[in-house]
Amino acid sequence: MTILRVALDVPLARLFDYLDTGSGVQPGQRVLVPFGRRQMIGIVMGRHASSDMPDAKLKPIDRAFVDENPLPAPTLKLLKFCSDYYHYPFGQTLLGVLPPRLREGEPAALPVNMGFRLTPLAMTEGIESVPKRAALQRTLFEALQQSPILTQAMLTRITPGWRPALKQMIAKGWVEHVAITAPLSSPIAPSPATQMLNSEQQQALQNMLDAGPDFNVWLLYGITGSGKTEVYMHLLEAMLQTPERQALVLVPEINLTPQLESRFRARFPGLSIVMLHSQMNESERLHGWLRAQNGEARIVIGTRLSVFTPLKNPAVIIVDEEHDSSYKQQDGMRYSARDVAIMRSKMANIPVLLGSATPSLESWHNAQEGRYRLLTLSQRAVSSAALPDIHTIDTRIVRPEDGVSDVLLKSMESRLERGEQSLLFINRRGYSPVLLCSACAWVAPCTRCSARLVVHLRQRRLRCHHCGHEQRIPPQCPSCGNPDLHPTGHGTQRLEEVLAQRLPNARILRVDRDSMRRKHAIKEMTAQVHANEVDILVGTQMLAKGHDFPNLTLVGVIDTDSALFSPDFRAAERLFAQLMQVAGRAGRAEKPGVVLIQTNFPDHPLFHALHRHDFAEFANSLLDERRMAHFPPYCHEALLRAEATDYAPVRAFMGKAQGLARDFSQHVTVYDPVRPQMERLKGMEREQVLIQADTRKSLQQFLQAWVPLLRDLPQANKVRWSIDVDPSEY
Ligand code: ADP
Ligand code: ZN
Ligand code: ZN
Repeated sequence: MTILRVALDVPLARLFDYLDTGSGVQPGQRVLVPFGRRQMIGIVMGRHASSDMPDAKLKPIDRAFVDENPLPAPTLKLLKFCSDYYHYPFGQTLLGVLPPRLREGEPAALPVNMGFRLTPLAMTEGIESVPKRAALQRTLFEALQQSPILTQAMLTRITPGWRPALKQMIAKGWVEHVAITAPLSSPIAPSPATQMLNSEQQQALQNMLDAGPDFNVWLLYGITGSGKTEVYMHLLEAMLQTPERQALVLVPEINLTPQLESRFRARFPGLSIVMLHSQMNESERLHGWLRAQNGEARIVIGTRLSVFTPLKNPAVIIVDEEHDSSYKQQDGMRYSARDVAIMRSKMANIPVLLGSATPSLESWHNAQEGRYRLLTLSQRAVSSAALPDIHTIDTRIVRPEDGVSDVLLKSMESRLERGEQSLLFINRRGYSPVLLCSACAWVAPCTRCSARLVVHLRQRRLRCHHCGHEQRIPPQCPSCGNPDLHPTGHGTQRLEEVLAQRLPNARILRVDRDSMRRKHAIKEMTAQVHANEVDILVGTQMLAKGHDFPNLTLVGVIDTDSALFSPDFRAAERLFAQLMQVAGRAGRAEKPGVVLIQTNFPDHPLFHALHRHDFAEFANSLLDERRMAHFPPYCHEALLRAEATDYAPVRAFMGKAQGLARDFSQHVTVYDPVRPQMERLKGMEREQVLIQADTRKSLQQFLQAWVPLLRDLPQANKVRWSIDVDPSEY
């Protein structure tokens, strides 16, 4: 009899012991165990001869999934590291990354793939027995002689009308239908989609190849359109020449466009490529995961969560748009997928490539210090595609009417006349930000958050963009009774309406989370733009990335000023990245692009740097500020957050937490509890404590001592609390 130590999806920082009576289950395999009155799926972490639990209390497992591939040891090790680093219970960390089907106890089974192969009869008779007239049958016969098994998809690629011919061959006993057990892989053939690299791209690639297959962090800093994706694909081509090796490519959710997928598929037609993201259904996610784990998938392209996908034989990890904030998970285990990717590469001793036109200051700093190796692409790859001209429109002089200045409107008109497209970028969906009473200045608030409701005029509703709360637009001011309530400020819906009035001949398409909710909406939008069925796009950051619209020559930017003077010290960094991204949409092909930004502060250094396309200068000046203010990356931070429906228990917990921190805070600074910008969110009163340390090590030592004590506080049961290591939002 042995003791199994099992990880379970419960908020306790420990493993649980069960009895095994000879199932032979291995570490990394799933078991079904009794827990309280329920049964739960767990993962076996180890087998032991004895337990600290009294024998009478030990329960046997109910079921062991012994036929399934165990989670590989490196995956378990990575998750253990993350659980420690982010101070999140191991069981929840581990079970939390599994595809939902596996967590629910469904079998880890792939659908059986069927294919066709020649029978022994056909092999003895040979191709001579196929009549010369039956040309199609001879083609198929030859193809089946070259690759032992062909799937339907492969046959279609050889000749779309294969069915009748193959049917005859089956009837003659030459071909049989069989299940495919081993993964099929064809060699990487040169594809028509391959681009010759320019000299900068070639240099970047060569540097990486020369450095060999071991761990190295590369930062590929390349302006938008400089051909970073092309470099990724050449790197994959080189690294995946070795049979069975795999690559993981991480992309921000918003970048996972059909365009990107088809680009990779066109480029590697012979390789199995798996996509993993949140829009996939549960069986697709399960199958993608299993194909990655069994080695069949040679390229895994996915969003944040896919950084944990088990790989049989990884060769390289790529993180595209490494600065993107969607890599940071904002609940549960608050990990950064970029940082986890780096740790994973280090553990697997393989290179990792971070790519961006506007690297995060953390990565930029690491490159300056020589910890990461910098590769630069300073030119657009298509030589005729010049960088867009970026200018500001001084809205103190040219007052916008209904949000859009005359200068901007005129520029859009001239594109319209030339049959070119424009994009109007605003970072707020809905009709307008707030509903204002003209008599008493009442503004419609969210009852559950410290936020204002956004007017969605088309639906005649007010909506909170933080908690999703919705209500009807009130007929009169609830405070003074005045019936004259005005939507004030601008959102995508209102802008769309204004443009429709001012440019009645333009075909306008709004692109935001509301209008793109339907499945395939983004695909259809892209097709419409490419077919020139749209003159003006009005949209949020959904439009900022990944799309390539050759006929788009003007980008207008509305209302960025709030970010310039935000209390969040990362706001300027984000704004710069965002504006670079939208600017990158203009003038991608032969037609030069122009970007016009409306602002009250045209002299702000951010706009000067943007005008010169000088990320490096801007990044270095921000780094100087951060060094002086002792902000990250010059210090390391963690945030303790707590919330509850009432404020009193939050205060009580935070008071205790701060008191405990004093005992061992020699090497860290523990700040007083403060209310975050959103004091109330989703009906919860919130408070937080910031911890700063000079080194990661001293921060981790402090957290290791402090967090377990927090778990034991009686006050902890009355609040929801969490630890955020390397927080990105405050
Ligand atoms: P990025 O990822 O840096 O924004 P892409 O890799 O998407 O850039 O490249 C931008 C455009 O330039 C694409 O249309 C791509 O096909 C093209 N391109 C990239 N590299 C080359 C090259 N070496 N020669 C010609 N065109 C290229
Ligand atoms: Zn009023
Ligand atoms: Zn709300």
